[in-house]
Amino acid sequence: MKYEPVIGLEVHAQLLTESKIFCRCGTAFGAPQNSQVCPICLGMPGVLPVLNRQAVAFAIRMGLATNCRIAAHSIFARKNYFYPDLPKGYQISQYEEPLCENGWVEIEMEGGALKRIGLTRIHLEEDAGKSVHAEEYVAGNETLIDVNRCGTPLIEIVSEPDIRSPREAYLYLNRLRQLVRYLGICDGNMEEGSLRCDANISIRPIGEEKFGVKTELKNMNSFRNVEKAIEFEINRQTQLLEAGGRVVQQTMLWDANDGKVLPMRSKEEAHDYRYFPEPDLVPLRIDEKWREEIQASLPELPWARRHRFIEHYGLPKYDAEVLTEEQAVAEFFDATARLVKDAKLTSNWVMGEVLRVLKEQKIDITQFAIKPAAFAELLNLMAAGTISAKIAKEIFEAMLTGGKSAKTIVAEKGLVQVSDTGVIEKAVDAIIAAHPQEVARYRNGEEKVFGFLVGQLMKATQGKANPKVANEVLRSKLAN
Ligand code: ADP
Ligand code: ZN
Ligand code: MG
Repeated sequence: MKYEPVIGLEVHAQLLTESKIFCRCGTAFGAPQNSQVCPICLGMPGVLPVLNRQAVAFAIRMGLATNCRIAAHSIFARKNYFYPDLPKGYQISQYEEPLCENGWVEIEMEGGALKRIGLTRIHLEEDAGKSVHAEEYVAGNETLIDVNRCGTPLIEIVSEPDIRSPREAYLYLNRLRQLVRYLGICDGNMEEGSLRCDANISIRPIGEEKFGVKTELKNMNSFRNVEKAIEFEINRQTQLLEAGGRVVQQTMLWDANDGKVLPMRSKEEAHDYRYFPEPDLVPLRIDEKWREEIQASLPELPWARRHRFIEHYGLPKYDAEVLTEEQAVAEFFDATARLVKDAKLTSNWVMGEVLRVLKEQKIDITQFAIKPAAFAELLNLMAAGTISAKIAKEIFEAMLTGGKSAKTIVAEKGLVQVSDTGVIEKAVDAIIAAHPQEVARYRNGEEKVFGFLVGQLMKATQGKANPKVANEVLRSKLAN
């Protein structure tokens, strides 16, 4: 019998607010342990939470960008459970009446077809603290608690069970990450835990409509691990069923070191949490005006931008994809391309040189030394034939460190491209005279020697000869 996987993801995204969701404590990552904490986020008796407006705005941004219905009225709920890193003994979340419902995002399948993944809901909740196991400051057999993260605002994005393969799960997660980063609501860093993903997995015989019993996988802290863990779990369930066994509903942990999943606990049910409406918070009402303001403030979303890059700039799909992956890169390209006639030239340079430098220097494009206007000046010099591509690369390197404009560097170093045929002819004559053997070989049909002679010519002209003219002159002189 052949089986088909059914997958639904629950993704938690930490919101980039300055303060926590119900108190004024900061949210900075990596602050000294237990330094960002107050009686409210510790849940001391008698304190009262106050909702962070920015966190709500961020959740609405995400809801609108994913085609959700934004509830005019939603409520918070207490989810009760005991865990050492949850000093309050409950988490404030949303259960019935979440803020956003019934949305969807599209993923692009191999071959370009789009597939819609439904979003059941997006709700607001607070994060728990962290249990810190063996580390440099924790002995091997101890566990310490860091409560800094208690009360950090999260959105939980729950997908419909629409995902059918580990690859689709990967693409979906990637899409969400791109989106939260575009919206500026989460940094999307899975390694630091600001984006976390639990995967629900079941399998069913192909053709069967009813879903099978699912397991829930936790603890995958990278995109690759999400894909690998799901793959592993699908295989495990398949082998189990094929051997005549049954899948037990449970929560499993992915162990990245061993590359396998291990059972953690039997799956709790919603009623185990004793959800009830949070008595310390009033219902959340979103008026239409605010929702519309947020709608109007949404940036151009990645797929719309990608489409525009193809239509407006005539870029190949591949280029548009690479350039819109990160919002800041897309803006850099946009700002540059507006000032340059040749959009494809601009695209080649951003995807090639600029992205290379970002990687080498491990920086963000916002920290990149060359700004769009200065970069456009360089590209325009090349597009106009004033400088060769080779010289342009030299100038580019100089601009990275010097802070001088391309025109200044060209003038200072005398780098203007030589297109004057007379000058190039002289140089070609000199090269032919200096390399009689190579010239003879070329004339005997050894085509590859031509490249060598071009190289010599470029060297002799310090790279300034217009390559097109140089090639033509050299060919015609060699033919004589
Ligand atoms: P639970 O009550 O166990 O939390 P939910 O119905 O709330 O389950 O769904 C949690 C997640 O699991 C959702 O992303 C949903 O799409 C997914 N899911 C639900 N049923 C299945 C199933 N049979 N197989 C795979 N995923 C499922
Ligand atoms: Zn606090
Ligand atoms: Mg659930």
